[in-house]
Amino acid sequence: MLSTELERSPVATSLGRVLVVEDEATIRETIVLALRDEGFEALVAEDGYAALGLAHKSDRIDLIVLDVMLPYVNGLDVCRAIRQEGNPVPVLMLSAKGSEPDRIVGLEVGADDYLGKPFGMKELIARCRALLRRRRLTYQEPQNVLRFGDIVMYPQECRVVARGNEIGLSPKEFRILELFLRHPRRVWSREQLLENIWGTDFVGDSKTVDVHIRWLREKLEADPSDPKYLVTVRGFGYRLG
Ligand code: CA
Repeated sequence: MLSTELERSPVATSLGRVLVVEDEATIRETIVLALRDEGFEALVAEDGYAALGLAHKSDRIDLIVLDVMLPYVNGLDVCRAIRQEGNPVPVLMLSAKGSEPDRIVGLEVGADDYLGKPFGMKELIARCRALLRRRRLTYQEPQNVLRFGDIVMYPQECRVVARGNEIGLSPKEFRILELFLRHPRRVWSREQLLENIWGTDFVGDSKTVDVHIRWLREKLEADPSDPKYLVTVRGFGYRLG
């Protein structure tokens, strides 16, 4: 199978962006091709660490197809970690162990559905479609609105309303706030914020983050000197709420 074939991604018509986490190349590639044939966009991770990294960075993953047996961090721990961060992305768990206890453990750690190997691609696609459909029904707010307290963000319209008033944010401020809103109460270090918002090749120091947080507080907080949204966690970084 040509790798260029795997990298081709139908963007404009994507039905959703699916992260496929599987260490066995043949199975992974088969799933990716099946998803792309059906019009999904597919990202891949070959182990648990890579999966967690992508789940953090890419806040636009609509569904995760997650194998249980993975190197470094297994699928159950990946799922648990994602849920502990408050990430509601639907998870379809895959496992060679189709027995009842494993299925229950999978669902207990926060997976939405469970598929035992071997499975057919038609069934996998049908489950993916069902999970995405269910998700759209659950999140019926107009196109993916993010809320926390009095803050409401409309990501697709690049608009933010805070305490009833529309506020203007720079693109960086917008992206920082979006990251916080997608992971409420998660603590972000300055380095993590730099990496997520400015990228790994940014040369500058973490003071940049502090300055942007200050600007955001001035726009969002009723009293910027006593913030209730963008809270400093001493020695660690910042948190929403
Ligand atoms: Ca595996």
